[in-house]
Amino acid sequence: MKENFSTQKELEIINTFATAPLKEEDVFIFTVTLCDNEVDRDFECFSTDTISTLKELFIGKTGISDHSMRSKDQCARVFRTYTEKNGEKTSYGEDYIALKARAYMLRNEESASLISEIEGGIKKEVSVSCSVNKSTCSVCGGDMRHHSCDHIKGRYYNSKLCYAVLSEPTDAYEWSFVAVPAQRNAGVTKAFIKKEETYLHNPTEIIKSLSTEKALSEGEITSLREHISALEEKAHEAEVYKSHLTQEIERLALIAMPKVNPAGFISACKSMKLTELRDLRNELDSQVREKMPASLQLRPSVQPTKSNTHNAFKI
Ligand SMILES: [Zn+2]
Repeated sequence: MKENFSTQKELEIINTFATAPLKEEDVFIFTVTLCDNEVDRDFECFSTDTISTLKELFIGKTGISDHSMRSKDQCARVFRTYTEKNGEKTSYGEDYIALKARAYMLRNEESASLISEIEGGIKKEVSVSCSVNKSTCSVCGGDMRHHSCDHIKGRYYNSKLCYAVLSEPTDAYEWSFVAVPAQRNAGVTKAFIKKEETYLHNPTEIIKSLSTEKALSEGEITSLREHISALEEKAHEAEVYKSHLTQEIERLALIAMPKVNPAGFISACKSMKLTELRDLRNELDSQVREKMPASLQLRPSVQPTKSNTHNAFKI
């Protein structure tokens, strides 16, 4: 809950973050509402426990004046946080609780216009970024991150609204002033970094979902990237194997059909599938074996011949 701190006391706290000691006239101190426990426009809400964890996580976090991550936009820093009740209930009947922050900015030429916008109430909405481990269905308590139920956020089931209760926050990132609020109350919004949040894990499902107008979350992008690099690796291995088979075919063709120009074989190989190449290699190999005396066979030690099938793997 909010304690009344003197400016002197607040300056002492600010100076634990500052690199050089700051005086009262050096800084602009203001209050922002970071988030609350009401269901927001994305049909998600922080649990009361989440709010108390975020209260700790947001201390020292930087606020930026827009969503770009350019360092010159990094303008403010939270130096203390507190929760505040207003005596009202949330839409789902719990005590409404807001997470407030006291933040400071250095007073200088670059910050002057933003400071006047904050003082004038123009910049008052902020968005927060954080990651959470758990997203629970309000209807059945199922894990929404892993799609353990079929309930859809924003729909009603037996007149009960489905929304995701976000809990177990793992980190809080930057917060920023934004134009359009997502949270219903006090013009506060939150934008999640979707990394640890609800997302599809199976690349096939993600690819399927691409046909809809859904934007990919960070987790989905990571999953797709991993999937693509695994495919690239497999494709590379297949290429290496294919060129190895082609070389072998060329060599075997020279022995099996000395009168045929191997160039024709090689160009035909380029459009063949791996299985076709392997069949061709095996066919040529057996032709060569028939032609050549056993002592000259190409790889007697690895491949079992008719005479030694039963003890092929004896050392
Ligand atoms: Zn559910």
